[in-house]
Amino acid sequence: MAENKAIIITGGASGIGREAAYQLAEAGNAIVVADFNEEGAKETVSAIEAKGGKAAAFKVDVSKAEEVEAMVDFAVESFGTLNGIFNNAGIGLVKPLLEMDPASYHKVIDVDQHSVYYGIYYGAKKMVELGTKGTIVNTASIYGSMAAKGSFNYNAAKAAVVMMSKSGALELAEHGIRVVGVAPGFIDTPILGNDPEMKKALSALHMHNQLIQPEKVANVVKFLFSEEATAINGSTVAVDDGFLSFK
Ligand code: NAD
Repeated sequence: MAENKAIIITGGASGIGREAAYQLAEAGNAIVVADFNEEGAKETVSAIEAKGGKAAAFKVDVSKAEEVEAMVDFAVESFGTLNGIFNNAGIGLVKPLLEMDPASYHKVIDVDQHSVYYGIYYGAKKMVELGTKGTIVNTASIYGSMAAKGSFNYNAAKAAVVMMSKSGALELAEHGIRVVGVAPGFIDTPILGNDPEMKKALSALHMHNQLIQPEKVANVVKFLFSEEATAINGSTVAVDDGFLSFK
């Protein structure tokens, strides 16, 4: 499959973003691997290049509008066009609501929510300017549609991401741009930390009684970017091994 698209992936230095970068590069796309962690982004790029794929690393803090705008420009400078953006970088921070001071609240909202608006806004503006008909995929969470204790800010951010995929799709369809989301269950990535007891408890929340591997989410992301997925628009697809169905 030679897709030949230029796609930006935020959070591409690790976890879901890295796996999506590998799979989308393998499908023939050129990837901007964007992350706060520049070393990790470069490692993802090296692994793609070692397999004959095309990729370039970009250091970005997705919570800063001007850096996201620069990331979009970098994609066009690197690959001559822009056909897609995977707004995926994110953080978690577990804290009871009564301890969630404004700084803690904003830390997660800025990275997990505002970043997605910046990616949609600058990414779509560039695609319209270039006349490319592109796809925007946003990483939400199961906790965008149900509440987790200690995650007031994360819940709010991910619910906003679910709605941004819907309202973005509505506004951008006339420009040939699709906007969709993925809502992962618990995925075996560094964001979960290293506590084996906690991982065991989280595993039990899924039908297969195990954490989901990041490549399972990447499989769906690759599909959402493909021409086979053009009838999926505005929806957020759960990749949750049944979590939302039986909790
Ligand atoms: P991860 O920690 O492996 O990867 C997240 C990446 O985002 C890291 O490389 C990190 O450097 C980058 N990042 C963080 N803040 C950034 C910033 N301000 N600017 C640029 N890059 C930044 O975690 P992951 O599980 O792959 O997470 C990817 C996305 O999936 C996140 O949005 C997360 O909320 C979401 N998610 C994860 C899970 C899970 O269980 N792992 C579940 C639901 C949703």
